[in-house]
Amino acid sequence: MFEPTERQDGFHDECGVFAIYGHPEAANLTYLGLYALQHRGQESAGIASIDGNTIHCHKSMGHVADIFTPEVLGSLPGDHAIGHTRYSTTGDTALLNAQPFSVACNKGKVAVAHNGNITNAGELRRELEREGSIFQASSDTEVILHLVARSRERTLAGALREALLQLEGAFSLVFLAEDRIIVARDPHGFRPLAFGQMELPGGALGYVFASETCAFDLINAVYLGDVEPGEMVIVSREGMTRERYAPIRDHAHCVFEHVYFSRPDSIVFGRPVEESREKLGRLLAREHAVEADIIVPVPDSGVAAALGYAEESGIPFRQALIRNHYVGRTFIEPSQAIRDFGVKLKLNPVRHLLEGKRVVLVDDSLVRGTTSRKIVRMVRSAGAREVHLRISCPPTISPCFYGVDTPSLAELIAANNTVEEIRRFVEADTLGYLSLASLREAVEDRNHDYCYACYTGNYPTDLVNIQELMAAKDRHG
Ligand code: AMP
Repeated sequence: MFEPTERQDGFHDECGVFAIYGHPEAANLTYLGLYALQHRGQESAGIASIDGNTIHCHKSMGHVADIFTPEVLGSLPGDHAIGHTRYSTTGDTALLNAQPFSVACNKGKVAVAHNGNITNAGELRRELEREGSIFQASSDTEVILHLVARSRERTLAGALREALLQLEGAFSLVFLAEDRIIVARDPHGFRPLAFGQMELPGGALGYVFASETCAFDLINAVYLGDVEPGEMVIVSREGMTRERYAPIRDHAHCVFEHVYFSRPDSIVFGRPVEESREKLGRLLAREHAVEADIIVPVPDSGVAAALGYAEESGIPFRQALIRNHYVGRTFIEPSQAIRDFGVKLKLNPVRHLLEGKRVVLVDDSLVRGTTSRKIVRMVRSAGAREVHLRISCPPTISPCFYGVDTPSLAELIAANNTVEEIRRFVEADTLGYLSLASLREAVEDRNHDYCYACYTGNYPTDLVNIQELMAAKDRHG
């Protein structure tokens, strides 16, 4: 029998990035930006600022609001800053891998933060090590800094152009240098990177960059658009320049950003996430209708799709699972006897809403199936007569190598089981996944601009080292 394991630390590359140029409170604003991007990574965060020609960098394990006290922010002076928030393992190695990375090299002082996953980082790193480079961390971001340092190009922008062309995979990068910030996005545009403008204290306009537009809302910046796939943007005293550093490639925006990862109040790849999610729910109701009394979301990830499902089906929406938002890493389980709280720590059912009801439970995705099974059991033991599980995306059958934390192939329940077997495993009365065609329709992907590899197994880039990438998932997963 298929027995998936609990969700553990997976591929450690889910992240949020932020950059700001020319604001006297650059670090404070970066802090606010990261605060809004906290959902993209909760294990470590960091900010690097530059004052004259000194880079100040502070990074630590934990949540943004706990790391950046007034004293810490006071130690990050300067008008330009970048920031990063990251999902990663605990312990020393995790702190070594926390970003931004900051170095002094022949191109000057540079700090970098990265969202994504460089699929040829292993080869590049081995090649660099053979030629004498020394690495401090295991993160692929360090590879980029080595490539920049070794480039014969004299300017940072020139060296970056050369370095970026050697990278394969997903990267939305923000660099901080002495007199400029440089940001870049991979030619396929896997991960988002938006830019905006805000008024500076003197009335002039400054530029900001962030993984998601919800970071702009908090600091009163206006979203202007996205850094284009294959584009490098430089902001300096002379203003902003945009250039294409790579040949045009097919776009491959990560559809999972719309399904789950981004905040619903963000505009991602030029499209409001909330709109996609409601549409996902509407289409799910059309494809997998069932007679029921209430529609219940798995909070928070299933809420928008459940609303769409409820509107389309005409069945009332009820928040019958309540989430405790304050569950953190610091929770200490009091004794052996009452261990294994599992999902109860996070979710609690509202019994009087569920008792005797036929329930449609809506969640955004089903990866290992373990959480879903616990939730189905919870809803049933709170008195539900029937539990119909609806998932607002297709079955996840392939691991992601472009920056989403999915487990190894062996642990993806849909890679190894039919829908009927999964239904039995999660103990639902019925189970319905959204079709790929409807997913495409919900994100309005008319020009084939999205990556669906986790649902199809068709990876949009050549993965010559796929065995190595799979093995890394096995090790971490
Ligand atoms: P499970 O049923 O154990 O596969 O867990 C599914 C739950 O995990 C869903 O509620 C998703 O919202 C959530 N989930 C899916 N992918 C991820 C991810 N990459 N990072 C964090 N949570 C995720």
